[in-house]
Amino acid sequence: MVRVRFAPSPTGFLHIGSARTAIFNWLYARHSRGKFLLRVEDTDLKRSESRFLDEILEDLKWLGLDWDEEPLFQSKRFGVYREKAAELLAAGKAYKDGDAVLFKVEPGRTIAFDDLIHGRISVESDTIKDQVIIKSDGSPTYNFSCVVDDSFLGITHVLRGDDHISNTPKQIIFYEAFGLTPPRFGHMPLILGTDGAKLSKRHGGVSVEEYKRDGFLPEALANYLILLGWTPKDGREILPPAEAVKVFEISEMNDVQAKFDLQKLRWLNAEYIMKSSNARLIPLVRQYLYAAGIPTADFSDAYLAKVLDLYKVRAKTLSEFPPMIDCFFREDFPFDEEGRKHLEKPESREFLRILADQLAGITDFSHATIEVVFREFAEERGIKPGPIIHPARMAVSGKTKGAGLFEMMEVLGRERVVARMRRAING
Ligand code: GLU
Repeated sequence: MVRVRFAPSPTGFLHIGSARTAIFNWLYARHSRGKFLLRVEDTDLKRSESRFLDEILEDLKWLGLDWDEEPLFQSKRFGVYREKAAELLAAGKAYKDGDAVLFKVEPGRTIAFDDLIHGRISVESDTIKDQVIIKSDGSPTYNFSCVVDDSFLGITHVLRGDDHISNTPKQIIFYEAFGLTPPRFGHMPLILGTDGAKLSKRHGGVSVEEYKRDGFLPEALANYLILLGWTPKDGREILPPAEAVKVFEISEMNDVQAKFDLQKLRWLNAEYIMKSSNARLIPLVRQYLYAAGIPTADFSDAYLAKVLDLYKVRAKTLSEFPPMIDCFFREDFPFDEEGRKHLEKPESREFLRILADQLAGITDFSHATIEVVFREFAEERGIKPGPIIHPARMAVSGKTKGAGLFEMMEVLGRERVVARMRRAING
């Protein structure tokens, strides 16, 4: 049975590259009906913090990843690592240097493995110096605790970042020293920015947390990270994790560096927002509005649903909603500077005054009826719709862009629309 693991070090937030590693291990485990385990690599007691671990676990769950069995904590296993080092000392495969224990690397041989992603990789043992396995403070080195625990957990496949390629031959010789068969290894190419540089904040953020805060949906981020490591045969790009599990093939993983393209992630996120139910989006959008200083407690879910029906095709992230839809939730919404000109012409004000009176008189305040009022108004005067639509849009929303004007008016309701038009003329 396939057994894979994700092994975060809780010394910082969950990096987008680590999240991708976690997702692929999970995909592989779920696709092959195996187990996905967590191992907490907290041997650096000074730099490991429980707040980081809490956040990493929170982010994994948010991304939709679930794990099997209880997580293994390396900080609780220092005794085991020392016992394993003692075995190697007793067998003459390791030696002491003060309080530290070093592994003797046999010279003159080739260490090779078939990487699941890169194919055959081989290294001459002469290029590897004797390896510290237990440091003088009694703590294990990463390579040593990794091998002890991967064998203890019965890990069959190790999928991790390319930055670990140079560690793998060192780990392989430890497996040999214990008389164990190493797992299969697969190293995923690093994620770079679109400019080819190492991923950094200026590319849009490096931690899962930042994307969550910016209003990306977890399936969109997970979907995007999947595309950064694997291209499904049919070339599909919209591939929620649950779908990806069905068709994932480890042999199809990309062996070239992936470029993180924020615009593509935004496009994907927009697709997921568009397809999300209002029931799901409403609480999220309320949170974003609240954080933007726009409380919505006085508005019903049914009202929010109408607003979202008009706007979920327009927002690429959840954080784009507040500035787009604020006018549905408060009367003191700001006016776009560039749109003010539409309200300044005496002629526009006169049009708005008459239109407001006409709208005040209609009983069926539906977008279709409102549209008829506007059309007839323009026809009677032989004018184009622009000179009445632009000022009216500014008056009711403060914006030059947005959903269809008549649909917006219907959702806002007659009283608010008429009051806003009259206020705009007098203001
Ligand atoms: N803690 C290591 C890391 O975060 C784990 C590497 C591995 O998967 O072996 O890079």
